[in-house]
Amino acid sequence: MRALTAGWGDWLSVFEQHYKALPAAVEDSGCPNCGARRLRLTFTGTEEERIGYAAFWCDGCLFGIHLSRCEVPEGVPMESLHTPVEQRSVRVPNYTLLWPDDH
Ligand SMILES: [Zn+2]
Repeated sequence: MRALTAGWGDWLSVFEQHYKALPAAVEDSGCPNCGARRLRLTFTGTEEERIGYAAFWCDGCLFGIHLSRCEVPEGVPMESLHTPVEQRSVRVPNYTLLWPDDH
């Protein structure tokens, strides 16, 4: 595992590539931090509004970002906020979050 090298902006631009392609998957260009093609994106929110938060992380180095009040595009699976964490289909690891003031 390498030390933290990518900042918020790097992560955000990779996130946007993935987000814009939804519900299709983009070819994983690799983690901005470690280069592993193990990026994961999940949404958790309320089905009625299709507004939720996005968790975007790398399974390789366990860094990532979190975006709140994201619109979840049609056709994209989302976890319900009402589902207990242990019953959700995607287990989000305990990754290290970057924040916008991390450079
Ligand atoms: Zn990584």
